[in-house]
Amino acid sequence: MSSKAVSDTKRLILPGATLGILGGGQLGRMFTLAARTMGYKVMVLDPDAASPAGQMADVHVQADYTDPAALKKLGASCAAITTEFENVPAASLIELARHCRVAPSAAAVAIAQDRGHEKTWLADSGFATAPFALVNSEADLEAALAATGTPALLKVSRFGYDGKGQARVATLAEARAAFQDFGRQACVLEGFVKLEREVSVVLARDDAGQCALFSVAENRHENGILDLSIVPARVPGSLAQQAREVAQSVAGKLGYVGVMAVEFFVADGGLLINEVAPRPHNSGHYTLDACVTDQFEQQVRVLCGLPLGDPRLLSPVVMLNILGDRWNTNGPHWDALLAHPNIKLHLYGKQAARPGRKMGHCNVLDADLDAALRLAEQMRDAL
Ligand code: AMP
Repeated sequence: MSSKAVSDTKRLILPGATLGILGGGQLGRMFTLAARTMGYKVMVLDPDAASPAGQMADVHVQADYTDPAALKKLGASCAAITTEFENVPAASLIELARHCRVAPSAAAVAIAQDRGHEKTWLADSGFATAPFALVNSEADLEAALAATGTPALLKVSRFGYDGKGQARVATLAEARAAFQDFGRQACVLEGFVKLEREVSVVLARDDAGQCALFSVAENRHENGILDLSIVPARVPGSLAQQAREVAQSVAGKLGYVGVMAVEFFVADGGLLINEVAPRPHNSGHYTLDACVTDQFEQQVRVLCGLPLGDPRLLSPVVMLNILGDRWNTNGPHWDALLAHPNIKLHLYGKQAARPGRKMGHCNVLDADLDAALRLAEQMRDAL
């Protein structure tokens, strides 16, 4: 064995080791399941006693993400630590990195934590986005609207998700009212893009800069929340290839290590980056049943310094999100869904079903993508 091979082997974190994750939602749960399937132990940090990932973990440390004793416990117990959400305090990742391997880095997560930073970083790095302007005070609104044109979307810079913290505005008065509604916190104003489609690319990038890219997903949203992902995306091959290249370039410029997603708008036949997510992504859930390696196994592999898995798509697939809304009408009717041999159900173990809350998803596999889409739509109504 060459000396390089020996040193590479030394860096590997192998089954039996304990992996840590900050955040215990559904993404953390699916990471935990992948890691445990591969023989790792998992320690989850999440303040919620009933967290979806905590239910599946070997150890659930129930504490705040900044709790010094909790961070000390994770740092001392884990061979490596990752995260499942972008709002994890960067200071906690920095502290943990003093004790063990942390991926992605605090610096990469910090860029994606704040829409304003993210958009500015993307534009400065030469990536195309919708026209935008930063709004830090009411006085910025007039010039911002002039820069973006109308209609526009005012979005809070931090802690917005699934269309929350967003308002469509057509006039200065509306923009002022929305800014006040958001408590005058820092915002980004974005020009409203006439979307032809939305697509995303989930990828994994390792320490050596090697990337494994999953197939491009075409995403349909309802009320700002992902409803369906259709894979492969129904876009020209050249556009899909361009999306993959741009996503890889974003990961490279961030020096990213881990699994991440880049969401795009397709407008005027071209691509604009909407968002970067420094974690596995809802639009990558199709990989759980339709790919050789899924996004969560890939997250484990990168974290542990293992070679990247094969991201190849084995079957056309449509992923349908199952939201809490389905619990309102004597549903959900699981029997209707489970009657189909080509539908794979994933539920997240959340106790309270609220409208808009992501409770689970299912993947519909069919050699005929149109048939998969029809069945997914039928299931959405049948549930
Ligand atoms: P976001 O949370 O920023 O990803 O927004 C949620 C969804 O709102 C997106 O997936 C789009 O469907 C829509 N959206 C967000 N920003 C824009 C925009 N600038 N123009 C048109 N639609 C948008």
